[in-house]
Amino acid sequence: MPRLEDYRSVVGSQTLEELSLLGKALTGKSVVHVNSTAVGGGVAEILNRMVPLMRELGLNVRWEVIRGGEDFYAVTKKFHNTLHGGTQDVSPKDYQVYEDTVDENLTRMRLDDDFVFIHDPQPAALVKMRKDLKNHWLWRCHIDLSRPQAGVWGFLKPYVEEYDACVFSAPAFAQTLAVPQYLISPSIDPLSDKNRDLSDAEIRAILDRLKIPTDKPLVTQVSRFDRLKDPLGVMEAFLKVQPYVDARLLLVGGSADDDPEGDQVLAEVREKAHGNPNILVLCLPPTSHVEINAIQRASKVIIQKSLREGFGLTVAEALWKSKPVIAGAVGGIPLQITHKYSGILVHSTDGTAYWLKQLLNEPVFAQKLGNNGREHVRQNFLLTRHLRDYLLLFLSLNHSTDELIRL
Ligand code: UDP
Repeated sequence: MPRLEDYRSVVGSQTLEELSLLGKALTGKSVVHVNSTAVGGGVAEILNRMVPLMRELGLNVRWEVIRGGEDFYAVTKKFHNTLHGGTQDVSPKDYQVYEDTVDENLTRMRLDDDFVFIHDPQPAALVKMRKDLKNHWLWRCHIDLSRPQAGVWGFLKPYVEEYDACVFSAPAFAQTLAVPQYLISPSIDPLSDKNRDLSDAEIRAILDRLKIPTDKPLVTQVSRFDRLKDPLGVMEAFLKVQPYVDARLLLVGGSADDDPEGDQVLAEVREKAHGNPNILVLCLPPTSHVEINAIQRASKVIIQKSLREGFGLTVAEALWKSKPVIAGAVGGIPLQITHKYSGILVHSTDGTAYWLKQLLNEPVFAQKLGNNGREHVRQNFLLTRHLRDYLLLFLSLNHSTDELIRL
């Protein structure tokens, strides 16, 4: 596993010195991260790398996962969809399932660390335990909260206001809240298996192993099979351009432990793709990091046609590999892509089809987008920047009454 020193060649010495200074100011402080899945999805992806690096900097860090039954994940998926602006009925029984599961978790969890960092709505109500504890509580919201349904948000908001502060991924997600809100974008790890450089031979070997033919340019979307990632819309766009370009569409996905809708969406995707030799649907286990890396690198164009998106790590992953990306202009994606400069932002299936045809026919322009995208990710969305922002946030909470923090 990469150590901090290994990042010097990617991010420069100054960044590492800054991190070490901040780490010293927080040495021995304890932190617990709590989320709802150890594998699958962007939050687990980030914590897997964030936790060891925080430890290396001298903090005492734990990672806990909230446990629940199928009924709990069905309810929290409803929460997820409605907070993203969808309409779904959430019944009093659903809220009860949520409360009961959180209460069960509270009986086995210790949350007395100096900083309690709760990720997303699933474990948000754990803040009930706070009561007389003198530690700092942060709610880290990774989802697109720009248009939440009033009912579910109205239920969660009193819990959220029990925290010391909230952290959102994009300015558009800010809410009217009685507590301070911070903007911290997520990040990717340039040295992880998902993103490290791969040789052409490694890429070829992985694609051969996965039986992905490379005789035609690959157009790829990597995403959990979730309606908000719009895999059916990606297919429709591809079908529109298929008469004009000889390419192959690859829909790569997997499941997350906290997402019960994946099987249904995957079945619909498979049915629509059935019989089309130019559409491949690939379901990979959640540990397939190097495989996804190779697929992204082997692709000519990457699509991320999300309808709602907290941030969209897959966009940053593709840009880091200098790939031209066509992505939905939603949530945190416009932070990553400036239209026609570092990628393409779309609002519709027709728009996706139009730009897909353009990029496949204009490789020089496509490469320019990819190169600009990589530089933008280097400057803004690498793990070391994210780590620095979290450490600064801890420090500011620890010194909330000081005018000046001396390092
Ligand atoms: N991912 C994966 N396997 C899959 C689908 C996605 O490893 O089958 C990874 C993807 O590479 C990215 C993360 O899961 O690192 C998804 O994060 P993102 O922010 O794009 O979406 P989320 O799933 O959190 O909504």
